Amino acid sequence: MCSVRLFNIVLILLAALSPATLATERPNVVIIFADDLGYGDLGCYGSPTIRTPHLDQMAAEGLRFTDFYSAAEVCTPSRAALLTGRYPIRSGMCAHRRVLFPNSKGGLPPKEVTIAEALREKGYATAHIGKWHLGIHEGSRPLDQGFDHSFGLPYSNDMDARSDLPKGSSGLANPPQDGWNVPLICDGKVIEQPADQTTLTRRYTAEAVAFIREHQSQPFFLYFAHTFPHVPLFASPAFQGKSRAGIYGDAVEELDASVGQVLDALRRERLAERTLVVFTSDNGPWLIMRDQGGSAGLLRDGKGSTWEGGMRVPGIAWMPGRIRPGVTNQLAGALDLFPTALALAGATAAPNVTIDGRDLSPLLFQSRSIPPRPFFYYRGDELFACRLGEWKAHFRTQTGYGQPQAETHDPPLLFHLGHDPSEKRNIAADHADVLAEIQQAVKAHQAGVEPGEPQLQ
Ligand code: MG
Repeated sequence: MCSVRLFNIVLILLAALSPATLATERPNVVIIFADDLGYGDLGCYGSPTIRTPHLDQMAAEGLRFTDFYSAAEVCTPSRAALLTGRYPIRSGMCAHRRVLFPNSKGGLPPKEVTIAEALREKGYATAHIGKWHLGIHEGSRPLDQGFDHSFGLPYSNDMDARSDLPKGSSGLANPPQDGWNVPLICDGKVIEQPADQTTLTRRYTAEAVAFIREHQSQPFFLYFAHTFPHVPLFASPAFQGKSRAGIYGDAVEELDASVGQVLDALRRERLAERTLVVFTSDNGPWLIMRDQGGSAGLLRDGKGSTWEGGMRVPGIAWMPGRIRPGVTNQLAGALDLFPTALALAGATAAPNVTIDGRDLSPLLFQSRSIPPRPFFYYRGDELFACRLGEWKAHFRTQTGYGQPQAETHDPPLLFHLGHDPSEKRNIAADHADVLAEIQQAVKAHQAGVEPGEPQLQ
């Protein structure tokens, strides 16, 4: 009798946590996106020097992913993919030129549907705070892509450098504060130029907290894309000179405090149990910046490359009472955030659009595994590698920065990421069957890819 009652209680609890129930509640969605933060740069991912107590606590209360991937090896394509759930090759937001520059003619095409557009259709308030880097022309800007409110920089903080600035200044430990003419834009209007970069994290955070407070009773989507720890590195006076890891650590520790303030605001407004918060990074650490670049931990290479260090990044999901605390080895990534957010909001993607990500709700809310699927690593518009289960094959390799030509591998290199996460031992010769399976997956993927009109030229 007692066990039957217990069983019923368990069923009721499971129903309370089911994605369908969540959709009727229309939970809020917050994505906090760091820029160039490496896999090894947080305490909860093994950094011995950078202190990140708030992210560590978020991970302890939430689900920490060991195998979470950005959708691209550099900034612009990674962001395009996060907001659309599609490999950037489909939107044309990737190319040999790698990212958008202030003189680029293109941007995220208006026909691409972002999380903000899909959720706004469902009555969500939407805000973009921080770096954009998806286009400065009409049709591609935040307010054109589904956001009601936008506060931040149009592109990277090292762009539009002062003409007399020596090359390499962005990688200095003490970069000049007025070295980059990047504007701070609020709802389409320039409010400061150059933006005072020492105040950015603090001001972004204040905007995020205000947005949360103002939307206590309306569901919302907050896309909070930090400027740091992308170089040039700045921190506010309260964090300057505090970290063992130098200015890079200062910037990350301030970002960690910002995460703490956002989570505190959600708790204070009694929204924590109604808000999915995901923290991740747009790509791996920019290793050529040396002390001003981060660490990919035990992963190989960093930003710009399709070795694991370029694209495997921290990934933490938090929703107290809904997500059971733990660590998962399931493969997931930024591509999954679009379908996951839409599922939570009860929205559906347009039927004629290919979405590459998967809804993570079963994993997040019911501890169920996501069916295995291949993951494709692109450098620019070229597919360089593919992961299937624990196996990863490289068809081409090139270090993130500094190697002028890619190397082609025939047969491809093959690594077992379980046994060899640092990709040191190529075991292709012993596993022709695995390679054949991966090649099959690549063929099927490529047959379904229609490259979008190139946007980065
Ligand atoms: Mg980046």
